Amino acid sequence: MAQSHDPSSTLPAFDAASNRLIIDLGALADNWRKMDRLSGKARAAAVLKANAYGIGIEPAAETLYAAGARDFFVANAEEGVALRPLVPDGRIYVLAGMWPGNEQLFFDNGLVPIVNSQEQFAFFMSVLSERGDHPCVLHVDTGMNRLGLTASEALALANDPARPASFSPVLVMSHLACADDPDHPLNRRQLESFRAVTAAFEGIESSLANSAGVHLGPDFHFDLTRPGIAVYGGEAVNGLANPMKPVVTAQARIIQIRSVRSGETASYGASAQFSRDSRVAIVAIGYADGYHRSVSGGGVTLRQARPSGAFGFLNGHRVPHLGRVTMDLSLFDVTDLPENAVRPGDYVELFGNNVAIDDVARAGGTIGYEMLTSLGHRYERAYIEA
Ligand SMILES: *Cc1c(COP(=O)(O)O)cnc(C)c1O
Repeated sequence: MAQSHDPSSTLPAFDAASNRLIIDLGALADNWRKMDRLSGKARAAAVLKANAYGIGIEPAAETLYAAGARDFFVANAEEGVALRPLVPDGRIYVLAGMWPGNEQLFFDNGLVPIVNSQEQFAFFMSVLSERGDHPCVLHVDTGMNRLGLTASEALALANDPARPASFSPVLVMSHLACADDPDHPLNRRQLESFRAVTAAFEGIESSLANSAGVHLGPDFHFDLTRPGIAVYGGEAVNGLANPMKPVVTAQARIIQIRSVRSGETASYGASAQFSRDSRVAIVAIGYADGYHRSVSGGGVTLRQARPSGAFGFLNGHRVPHLGRVTMDLSLFDVTDLPENAVRPGDYVELFGNNVAIDDVARAGGTIGYEMLTSLGHRYERAYIEA
């Protein structure tokens, strides 16, 4: 983080904060524009589910709308209701779709349900017969085996002369199972299957690619792409150097610096063992903040499979996590820093500009998506305006 951009110096709230989250909305907008460009002739939607991947739906929606996004995906109708006032003329697609009891939310808020199954199709048709026309999206499963009509169900529907005239989807979509692995043969199979379906729904827009799918090239772009994680700065494709700007920087306060003698241990289970005299920073971050216990430096089962736990970043140095992440506290080894380079009150970067969120995720056997969506409620948040 450029020093001039560090809002800690200007925000009084940050003086008191134990943990702080700095969210760079300029990077968010740049990342969306980049994914929009990479989408070629297709336009890019913005995916705002799960409180915009944890960063906050309000600032994310306003930033991405200002950057030019007009199509928005959310997980459920409640998220759509929260989003509606932020993007008054945007099109909001609800991934979970409509079911008896939530239909009013779609009509009151102009939300577009995604029809994921024969049951949802039948229910949506019955609602339309009472209320009149309303747009929808048809979701077709081409190999993920999660949500969506099967390709043959979708083809039968397309070719059914008795299909109700009121069924007029604005979009036909599918979702890729293996886009993060460009060589996986399922990508091509899903593409062929999706092409057959879109041909049967001629004249209706179509959408297949998530972030990783955008990188699979123009064949996968269709009319609308749905990049999520890449816009939030995360890795989308395995083995590809992440081309996106980091959006989220998480920092936690050092409460105390301890000196520990060679031969002593620290943390639960005596899981940090010292073979040299050491200095340890005791930091106000724990699994209750979404700093998962599995990223622990030692003393958790995962370390038998992957020897290295998470690293933090402090005054120009990478500092390894020691022992177990506990609910509110973590230990970092600061022995190799010059004595005067670290003091109680300093902040350790957990991830952000200097430590990739996906590296921390890997240390914990998870993915950047899960790190972002489990950030917890104890961070003081500051947004750098776009
Ligand atoms: C979450 C989601 C996306 C976005 O995926 P990323 O991998 O974050 O780019 C796209 N499409 C659907 C159906 C999703 O559920």
